[in-house]
Amino acid sequence: MIKICPLFSGSSGNCTYAEFENKDAVIIDCGKSARQIEKSLHENNIDISSVKGIFITHEHTDHVSGLKVFSKRYGIKIYGSKGTITNLKDKGIIENKSNCEIIEKKETDLGFASLKAFSISHDCSEGFGFVFTNKIGEKFAICTDLGFISNEVKNALTGANIIMLESNHDVMMLENGPYPYYLKKRILSSSGHLSNQDCAEFLPHLIKNGAKNIILSHLSAHNNVPELAIETSVCHLNKFGISLNKDFNLHVAPKINTQKLTFSI
Ligand SMILES: [Zn+2]
Ligand SMILES: [Zn+2]
Repeated sequence: MIKICPLFSGSSGNCTYAEFENKDAVIIDCGKSARQIEKSLHENNIDISSVKGIFITHEHTDHVSGLKVFSKRYGIKIYGSKGTITNLKDKGIIENKSNCEIIEKKETDLGFASLKAFSISHDCSEGFGFVFTNKIGEKFAICTDLGFISNEVKNALTGANIIMLESNHDVMMLENGPYPYYLKKRILSSSGHLSNQDCAEFLPHLIKNGAKNIILSHLSAHNNVPELAIETSVCHLNKFGISLNKDFNLHVAPKINTQKLTFSI
C-alpha cells in the first residue's frame, strides 16, 4: 500500500505526504511554514512521528520555506541532491550542522521503500524528481518544476502507479496574462515549468505502462484553472481511446488540501 496526501501544491507552496507499510512515511518538499504544515497534517489525521524523512526536490522558496523550522522541530532528516543541499546551506536556508543526507541518482534503500532520484530540467542548482517503490513493487513518482520531459524523466516515470506530475499553465493564458515578458519567457523555457499540453501528451504512455492515479500538480494560480488542466488531459487521452475512471483516475492536487484528499494504491 502507498497512500499519498498532497498537502499543498502550486507556486504558493508545495508539500506532499507519502505513506508506506507500517505507517512509515516521508514528506516531499516543505514549502509552507512549519505551522501551516503541522496544521495540515493534523487536519488530515496524520501523525507527524510517522515522517521519517523530508525529500527536497530543489531550493526554490515554494519548496523549502518551512524546512528549517519543521526539520529542526521534529528532528527529521533532510534529503536532497548535492547541489540542492549545498545551495540551501550556502544561502542559510538550513544550518551547516543540519541533519542532511545527500542522495545520488542510484537506487537507495530507505528500509520501508527504495528510492530512485532523477534529474529535472529547471532553473535551480540540481533539481530532482523522485520515485519511491514499496516492498511489493508498487511505485509512487513525483515530478514537478520541469521545463520538458527528458528521456531520463520518461524512463523514471514509466511503470509508476501513482504519479504527481506538473501541469503548470495553459500556454494561451500565460501568453495573454499579466506576467512580465521575462517571467513568461522563463516559464516557457526548457528549464521552466510544464504546460497542460506537455503534461497531457505524456499521459497515454504513462497509463499504458501502469499508471492508475495521476495527480496534476503545481498548477499556476494566475495561468491555469483546475478544470482546464483536467480538460486538456482528458481531451488528449480521448484521442487515444483512454477514458476517465475506466482505465485510470485523474485528479488535481489542490492548492491547500482541506478536503482530506488521499490517493492510494
Ligand atoms: Zn522551482
Ligand atoms: Zn515550484
